[in-house]
Amino acid sequence: MQYLSTRGHADRKHFCEILLEGLAPDGGLYLPERYPQVDAATLAKWRGLPYPELAFEILSLYIDDIPAADLKAICRKTYTEEVFGTQAIVPLKKLEDGLYLEALSNGPTLAFKDMAMQLLGNLFEYELARRGEELNILGATSGDTGSAAEYAMRGKKGVRVFMTSPHGRMSPFQQAQMFSLQDANIHNLAIEGVFDDCQDIVKAVSNDLEFKRRYKIGTVNSINWARLVAQVVYYFAGYFQATKSNAQKVSFTVPSGNFGNICAGHVARMMGLPIERLVAATNENDVLDEFFRTGVYRVRSSADTHETSSPSMDISKASNFERFVFDLLGRDGAKVKQLFGAELSAKGQFDLSAEPAFKQAAQRYGFVSGKSTHADRLATIRDTYERFKLVIDTHTADGLKVARQYPQPGVPMIVLETALPIKFAATIVEALGREPDRPAKFQGIEALPKRVTLLRSDAQAVKEFIAGHCA
Ligand SMILES: *Cc1c(COP(=O)(O)O)cnc(C)c1O
Repeated sequence: MQYLSTRGHADRKHFCEILLEGLAPDGGLYLPERYPQVDAATLAKWRGLPYPELAFEILSLYIDDIPAADLKAICRKTYTEEVFGTQAIVPLKKLEDGLYLEALSNGPTLAFKDMAMQLLGNLFEYELARRGEELNILGATSGDTGSAAEYAMRGKKGVRVFMTSPHGRMSPFQQAQMFSLQDANIHNLAIEGVFDDCQDIVKAVSNDLEFKRRYKIGTVNSINWARLVAQVVYYFAGYFQATKSNAQKVSFTVPSGNFGNICAGHVARMMGLPIERLVAATNENDVLDEFFRTGVYRVRSSADTHETSSPSMDISKASNFERFVFDLLGRDGAKVKQLFGAELSAKGQFDLSAEPAFKQAAQRYGFVSGKSTHADRLATIRDTYERFKLVIDTHTADGLKVARQYPQPGVPMIVLETALPIKFAATIVEALGREPDRPAKFQGIEALPKRVTLLRSDAQAVKEFIAGHCA
């Protein structure tokens, strides 16, 4: 299996070559040359496999440069009951007939990003050891991504993490999750500024090619193909749990921001998993909902990007969306390059409403969408608690709200639960007048000693810190 760029670059690469990379050389995103097809016999064979074995089967179709025994060992080491809380790893919770939540957030940081990031940590350690190399991961976070990356990379050989975050702007729980890590290879850098300042610093450091090469700077953001392919597995696992036979179809609703999670659903569907609809649920930052309704993809300015109570979906553009558009336009790299390169930089938007391909988004690819607001979130959290005695988080509430707009008789709807409510306690209190339950391992974490360095908002200060901690 080889990988190509969505912007038409001629290079083809294998999995481990793109594992440690970000964008393709032409600024595109990597995708497999083709989607491996899973037939009925294979689906039947996979039904009933334990999660790590299922992960191995699916990943093997995309990874041909890690020996099978090693890949299997990596999958078994990653997806354990100890790390994810249950043997099922992603158990389904039935709400009512035909409506389920798939629990993706019982990993170390209580958000679905652990599902992919935990695998990435083990893949990085394996590949770096094989090459005899080191990697320094530099990132910016306002919460979920940074903590998932730190918990995935802590204690891993060959990897250091330098994670910037806006000083004093994360929730106390999120700060405690990250700053309480005492591992020597994890560095928390609180920046005197806002999240955009942190992102600007990461860009500035990465654009210093000499520094980047010298200090082996890398990233783990959501455009990484390995993260995406790891997420494909739980679409299969959810399907098997919600159905009895492979003749049945299911739909998924996905609380969406950067389009990484739902893009994995698209990949699963392209492989032949019987998915009827993929429902993209957004919050007030409705870049994706606007596209699926109108055909216009419009990047928002920072003034036009709202701070919401489902903050992990507060995006101004959807970084993985280019992958879907590439498929939608018949894999026309030149066209994608023109849209995401020239047209977006000149106009900040493009319009596919007149293209026949746009109609196919729903008809051929199953995509529909909806939007949820703060009031919807509160109402859905309350309603779910009253009816099912279940407290859901704010992102999952956005998903559930939108899922209810798309009922189809005979087609189970699976809403992906992307975080646990304890991470967003203030909104739960607003909705229910009570604190969400806290898993035992997080009792009292706010009181633990914190390991964090405060730096001014300045790329040079961050560079000096990295240089001083790379011995
Ligand atoms: C990251 C995140 C999302 C959005 O996922 P994308 O892959 O960016 O679409 C939704 N919910 C939670 C809790 C997240 O952490």
